[in-house]
Amino acid sequence: MLTLATPLAQIRGIGPSVLSKLKNLEIFTVGDLLWHFPFRYEDFSKVYNIAELEPGQQATIKGIVENVSVRRAWQRKMYVTEAIISDDTGSIRAVWFNQPYLKNILVTGRHANFAGKVSFSDDQEIYLSHPTFEMIQNEEEGTRHTGRLVPIYPETRGVTSKMLRTYIQQILLGLKRPAEWIPEDILETLSLPEIKSALQGAHFPEHIDDAYLAKRRFAFEDLFLLQIWNLSQKLKLAEQKAPALATDIEWLKSNLTELPFELTQTQKRSLWEIVKDIGEERPMNRLLQGDVGSGKTVIAALSALIAHKNGYVTAFMAPTEVLAKQHFETLKKLFKNVDHADQPAVALLTGSEAKIFYENDLESDTTKSALTQKIKKGEVGIVIGTHALISEKTSASFGGKGLGLVIIDEQHRFGVKQRAKLADPKRGFIPHFLSMSATPIPRTVMLTIFGDLDVSVISELPAGRKKIITEIVPPEKRPSTYKLIREKIKEGRQAFVVCPRIDPSEEEPAAAREKTRKKIELKSVKEEYEKLSKTIFPDLKVAMLHGQMKPKEKEQIMKDFHSGKTQILVSTSVIEVGVDVPNAAIMMIEGSDRFGLAQLYQLRGRIGRGEHESFCLLLTDSENEETHARLKAITEAQNGFELAERDLQLRGPGQFMGEEQTGFPDIAMQSLQNVELVKSSREAAAKVLTADRSLATHPLLAEKLDEFIKKIHAE
Ligand code: ADP
Ligand code: MG
Repeated sequence: MLTLATPLAQIRGIGPSVLSKLKNLEIFTVGDLLWHFPFRYEDFSKVYNIAELEPGQQATIKGIVENVSVRRAWQRKMYVTEAIISDDTGSIRAVWFNQPYLKNILVTGRHANFAGKVSFSDDQEIYLSHPTFEMIQNEEEGTRHTGRLVPIYPETRGVTSKMLRTYIQQILLGLKRPAEWIPEDILETLSLPEIKSALQGAHFPEHIDDAYLAKRRFAFEDLFLLQIWNLSQKLKLAEQKAPALATDIEWLKSNLTELPFELTQTQKRSLWEIVKDIGEERPMNRLLQGDVGSGKTVIAALSALIAHKNGYVTAFMAPTEVLAKQHFETLKKLFKNVDHADQPAVALLTGSEAKIFYENDLESDTTKSALTQKIKKGEVGIVIGTHALISEKTSASFGGKGLGLVIIDEQHRFGVKQRAKLADPKRGFIPHFLSMSATPIPRTVMLTIFGDLDVSVISELPAGRKKIITEIVPPEKRPSTYKLIREKIKEGRQAFVVCPRIDPSEEEPAAAREKTRKKIELKSVKEEYEKLSKTIFPDLKVAMLHGQMKPKEKEQIMKDFHSGKTQILVSTSVIEVGVDVPNAAIMMIEGSDRFGLAQLYQLRGRIGRGEHESFCLLLTDSENEETHARLKAITEAQNGFELAERDLQLRGPGQFMGEEQTGFPDIAMQSLQNVELVKSSREAAAKVLTADRSLATHPLLAEKLDEFIKKIHAE
């Protein structure tokens, strides 16, 4: 009997040329082929008597071949094969072009099924045009191309759906039932088919519902494995020890009243969730989500204050030096009114700067080595830097009671390995972990891909923020956009110009492709920089920024923009991450239809951060109504999460997650759109792990999980 591991070379009828074509699709074994699923089904399930046929029907007939002939059509090289097929009720003509060899297959007197469209000829006669057929030798064997729902597979050169059907049907007949690795009670609760009937249902469904159920099972498989992985990571982390950081609520409240503003509802809730987490000896692993400017940094800073009050140091990391410096400034301001006895000394330690801010409101420059000494001696409560801050053996060099809290800005996940680096072997604990992200992530993605994290969401902006005026701009209004930029710069503001690509020659990124494949010109940073600096704004200071530049170069350009030295920054979407230039009040996005909604939303978050009225101009040459509707959603959006959900539904998760997540199987990505299934998979994973954390009673599941983890490179 065949197993999933049987090489296809051993299957009768699959020759070397087909094998090599399948290899290109990474299909080597029976299992690989069975997991090559049809993407749709043609419904030839209804079998008609020839006498009842009507033009336009998709029909199957069961008949006998009466007569076959091949002739040349008047177009010289064209062969026409004609067969007369009859059953008890009548006869009909079937026609194929350019397949003269059919004469050798369709032998007079043989029984065959024909499936195809019933057409109407010029001389008022019905006939079958290019029907699929299969010779019937043995009624028992069942049909694969006719008289049923017929699977249609993704098209590949030299491997037709008809061939795949033949191979797969043959394989399914000889396949030993594969071992079921999903626990039976879970299949039962969720009414999912077991593995062999799911395979049968996916390829040769009796009824379309069989296909749906099969699809559901296979989608569930990946989600389930992902959830088990996430939950087991979570459980593993929970076994480790972190210092319990207690919060005196009265003390916290009195410090909150010293803030220059009142926290929003969701800021309060998030802070409370953090307070509860870090109060435990189990390490916190929490993601704080919220739009740019929603006040995440403030909440992170308050958490650091609590750690300090408990005698522990906080490391606060940003993706760039500029952002690290910004956080340093924010924290300085924030802690101004904190009771001096509780005020942490805040240090900035980056490649180019070493600064410290003490409780006596004095800020001083220092050297790196001096600062490192101070940190070691426990004289610093919060160390702010880039991700390099804790790259090597640093954990042991934190003074006081040690590193108690790590905060990371704009990075979602902190791997188990990275975390292990932070373990303090002498003290025997690892720090609590808080990450912050302004990327709006849809709920289902959050629950799956980032399912190992706990999440707090700040869903409102502080009151009194200026609304950003957002407009969709067609090509003919481009000049007025330039005029507006000039006006605003005259008033002292700065502007971003965002382009979808770096080089004119660069391939259009797959993630930005649109359904309507009209060829339109895509603006590039380099060209636009040339044009704006030389022709449009020769009198203004224009700079460019993109991902091909060296980090040092980028830092310098950001610094110059930050300080106001440059007025217009032409860039790719690299400015998405954490840039805070309150004076930038205008953003022009070229080819805006090329960006995802969530991404546009985030880009726009770079403006409207100061007290100035801000403008976001979405340029597009698209005349597609759908595109306009999509862009319009931005102008109306209340928050980024709404848009992220919408993006996920409209563009699919592949688009949404971008290239780096391609390790995920397609089917799992698609199933992210299925909220209900995501929930079920999470519950099922919890059920299994609660009963048996090591999966000792589920060896097949454990094995499958290992394979899956390797496949998605989760480790
Ligand atoms: P994020 O980190 O989410 O981008 P920040 O914490 O940097 O946001 O806050 C952005 C700005 O808003 C800062 O100047 C901060 O002082 C201010 N801010 C934060 N929370 C509030 C609030 N509840 N009310 C008013 N202003 C706030
Ligand atoms: Mg921020």
